[in-house]
Amino acid sequence: MKAENAVTTASDARSQPDGARPDLSNTNIREDLAGQGRCALVHLPTGRTCLLPLRHHGPCEFHRPQEADDVAAGRATVAGE
Ligand SMILES: [Zn+2]
Repeated sequence: MKAENAVTTASDARSQPDGARPDLSNTNIREDLAGQGRCALVHLPTGRTCLLPLRHHGPCEFHRPQEADDVAAGRATVAGE
């Protein structure tokens, strides 16, 4: 019987770069809105953007690109806030 020293390296802790959001890895994010604390998730088929706060509860609410642009530029506030 031969003892083998299996060297195990558990080095998967650095698989995510800084600022990555693994829960949204398959979607597009508007960085200008994300930088303002918005969810900023873009629904790719329609080009609409979620303007809810980051890590909001419930499903995303997608708004027209023009609305998203207004919010990104600070020209508008989202109803309900
Ligand atoms: Zn959202």
